[in-house]
Amino acid sequence: MAESNATYQQPICHDSSHPAKPDLSHPVDNTNKSHWSIDDFEIGKPLGKGKFGNVFLAREKKSKYIIALKVLFKSQLQKGGVEHQLRREVEIQAHLRHPNILRLYGYFYDDRRVYLILEYAPRGELYKQLRAQRTFSEPISAKYIRQIADALNYCHSKAVIHRDIKPENLLLDFFGNIKIADFGWSVHAPTSRRTTLCGTLDYLPPEMINSKPHDKSVDLWSLGVLCYEFLCGYPPFESEDQQSTYTRITTCSFNFPPHVSEGARNFISLLLVIDPTKRLPLDNALTHQWVVDQSAKSDDQMFPQRNDK
Ligand code: ATP
Ligand code: MG
Repeated sequence: MAESNATYQQPICHDSSHPAKPDLSHPVDNTNKSHWSIDDFEIGKPLGKGKFGNVFLAREKKSKYIIALKVLFKSQLQKGGVEHQLRREVEIQAHLRHPNILRLYGYFYDDRRVYLILEYAPRGELYKQLRAQRTFSEPISAKYIRQIADALNYCHSKAVIHRDIKPENLLLDFFGNIKIADFGWSVHAPTSRRTTLCGTLDYLPPEMINSKPHDKSVDLWSLGVLCYEFLCGYPPFESEDQQSTYTRITTCSFNFPPHVSEGARNFISLLLVIDPTKRLPLDNALTHQWVVDQSAKSDDQMFPQRNDK
């Protein structure tokens, strides 16, 4: 069947600046083995449900290595018209190597499904934690922001823009470190100055909702929105209806609840700037006093027993 097998048969990366280096130390790295199949894995409990399929805990039979297997149905991908987007997601994510970016080890497919072999993030979605705890403390927020800023800095250095940074796309590893997932909307910079409206309105910068050209500074705006939501429990431009959210974003109108510190207000206000060229660059975000001071305190909050002795 012509379906879409052909789409997935070609080598997934054509970008010579990202050569596929064999990582022989890794048991499930796609470059060690070109033809994975479902028979190579033992399938465990479901981890979650996505728009186009499900994610399962799984174990590679030979190495016993635990992974997350994302199973996508070709029919649904075709119906949604997202095959191209998936190819791009796989191509980009498979070549990124950063401690705060979820690894994509490889992929394979059969007649009906496409399977993505992903790093397993045992503590799941950050979004769920945020809803359960309502807000994060300043040290924990700063730690997450520092890790995300570091990962975005790495992406931008490879000319990759994420464009969809929000709590739903952030996972946590066993130690509570951030793993950025979902590169579905990310793009390589040269093709990025397009005006596609993507992502949830709340996290979109003014230039994107106004369909103007945009570049990597869209991720700086989203980082500011994210930091605000960590500290306040809701995004800064949240409104009753889309029109009001739109107006609040384009006029950059937001307020801080009283409990937010001066340092955090300063940091967020340097990122939530209408003019994309005036937003705090990631290098400066990483050395911002509030980020440095507060993230240094995060270990004390995560492991309080260490200080009890
Ligand atoms: P889409 O990515 O198509 O927009 P989605 O984000 O809703 O959809 P998925 O990314 O397919 O969904 O993941 C569904 C759920 O499975 C996630 O919300 C998360 O709870 C869980 N999950 C996904 N990947 C992993 C992983 N690598 N480790 C642990 N849990 C995961
Ligand atoms: Mg997802």
